[in-house]
Amino acid sequence: MTAVVDPATEETIAELESAGVEETDAAVARAKAAFPAWRAVAPAERARVLRALATLVEEHHEELSRIESRNVGKPIAGARGEVAMVAQVFHFYAGAVDKHLGETIPVAGGVDMTFREPLGVVGLITPWNFPLNIASWKLGPALACGNTVVLKPAELTPLSALRLAELALEAGIPDGVVNVVVGKGSVVGQRLIEHPDVAKIGFTGSTEVGREVMRGAAGTIKRVTLELGGKSANVIFADADLERAAAAAPYAVFDNAGQDCCARSRVLVEKSVYDRFLDALVQATRAVRVGNPLDESTEMGPLISAAHRETVASFVEQEPAFQGEVPEGPGFWFPCTIVEARETDRIAREEVFGPVVAVIPFCDEAEAEAVRIANDSNYGLSGSIWTRDGARALRVARAIDTGVLSINSNSSVRVSTPFGGFKQSGFGRELGMHALAGYSEVKNVFYSTE
Ligand code: NAD
Repeated sequence: MTAVVDPATEETIAELESAGVEETDAAVARAKAAFPAWRAVAPAERARVLRALATLVEEHHEELSRIESRNVGKPIAGARGEVAMVAQVFHFYAGAVDKHLGETIPVAGGVDMTFREPLGVVGLITPWNFPLNIASWKLGPALACGNTVVLKPAELTPLSALRLAELALEAGIPDGVVNVVVGKGSVVGQRLIEHPDVAKIGFTGSTEVGREVMRGAAGTIKRVTLELGGKSANVIFADADLERAAAAAPYAVFDNAGQDCCARSRVLVEKSVYDRFLDALVQATRAVRVGNPLDESTEMGPLISAAHRETVASFVEQEPAFQGEVPEGPGFWFPCTIVEARETDRIAREEVFGPVVAVIPFCDEAEAEAVRIANDSNYGLSGSIWTRDGARALRVARAIDTGVLSINSNSSVRVSTPFGGFKQSGFGRELGMHALAGYSEVKNVFYSTE
């Protein structure tokens, strides 16, 4: 049995059997058996059951939010926002089922047309930071395209996925279409990657494990999409609305206790306003409310585990410019931490995945220097640009090698817009209509008219 722990209290909140290879194979077999009937379901009916699932998530909004809050240690207000997004994702993909169109292509001697065919059984492997949200980003398009799925949630946070699978059955999604297997990445995840009957792996997690997924998938030429780590830059030009940028910056890195692939954990500030911005950032960070995740006003909870807290702490090698307070007693707490850094420091280069931000000045040719530092990373997931000069904002946005950028905002994720990485942040896109390409194959059919 594996204990599932509340990271804010260190109490065991559930005990689950950890599945092995045999259970994984059984889930794949069920998904395989369910595939022919599910792919043949009329589009309107597939849309109807996905919409029913969206409605059930809305009806169970508070229950799912509390499960997520307790299992991940995330503030209840944030968990509510995430669960609301899960419902929106299923609504969106219900609407997408009959809008994922083929083409007719002008050719000689007949009619040429394309179809978007489902892949078959897809394996979905998800991390612990946004368990239900990220599961829905994969389940929505996978099911809309007519695939059946085996979902492996992270060992630390399996509870919301299990509840969602029950709701999927209640919504009328046929038995065997959605399967959840709880177990270790090195056992269940590995088996899904190698399994000959799994056509694709949709993976979100660390870049390190992403490499394993790619390697393992080579054996069966499996399709993969990889949503991996990040070290995103928040670029502040001197002509920005500095008060607004500074007030927003803490939430761009301390949300979810920094355990966010889109965290703007590098703040690049034009030298002429560096001191002023740093002061304002410290003031805004002082105001972040850290405490019991189930308190309505809490803005930051604990880290996921004691082991992860040790990793995060190991990154803070220099004296912080600011470090906040954490509650006493049990819980894997780590304070909001601001570090003044050079672009070459480890803290400015590696993903910390905790509430630690590196602030770095840039000068000289401000625009070129900002772009150079922003791009000096193996990652390229997200980022922000703050300036009142619209043309500069777009020039810099085009020049930064990253999948998702915001101008005068720190948001990264919307239901209807593509999300994913450049460079070692991965490839493939989730959300929006773009995600459908990752869960279907294009088939070309020629019909002779001669
Ligand atoms: P992780 O890579 O340790 O684990 C992710 C999943 O992979 C888990 O379900 C785990 O059990 C499984 N896994 C581990 N080893 C495996 C193996 N050998 N074979 C198959 N599966 C295996 O990541 P994590 O610690 O759960 O999550 C944090 C990481 O996820 C961070 O790097 C973060 O940036 C990244 N992340 C990326 C995105 C994105 O969309 N780009 C979103 C959230 C998190």
